[in-house]
Amino acid sequence: MANFVLQLPNNLRSFTVFASSNGRAPSSSSNGGGGENGGPVIVELPLDKIKRPLIRRRANDPNKVKELMDSIKEIGLQVPIDVIEVEGNYYGFSGFHRFEAHERLGLPAIRCKVRRGTKETLRHQLR
Ligand code: ADP
Repeated sequence: MANFVLQLPNNLRSFTVFASSNGRAPSSSSNGGGGENGGPVIVELPLDKIKRPLIRRRANDPNKVKELMDSIKEIGLQVPIDVIEVEGNYYGFSGFHRFEAHERLGLPAIRCKVRRGTKETLRHQLR
């Protein structure tokens, strides 16, 4: 799989972009979210950079989280969580079990599929 270098803000430097899922190189813009043509990119983001507005409305299944922890420890995260980037901020509206498994394992970052969105995208997700 090809690796790309992505220009990230200082606070996100050193996180690796693995590949763009559409086969194109990701954007080299300074906010790091979404590919050049708006296509998603796969990137590792620090957990604390991902805002999760819906988290209090959802309860995770503890058994699922435990199973994911065991699996992630053994084989790593196989499917990145979906994240939307709006104006330099990252929002996660799904992948709650995978996120919690990473938190509980003490992992600092999680592999994300980042798509660029607008404030309207956010409003839509929050509805
Ligand atoms: P979430 O709230 O994170 O979406 P789900 O239980 O609904 O939790 O789905 C778990 C997802 O995690 C599945 O899509 C599965 O393919 C994915 N996954 C990624 N990495 C792993 C792994 N190492 N072991 C098991 N499932 C994994």
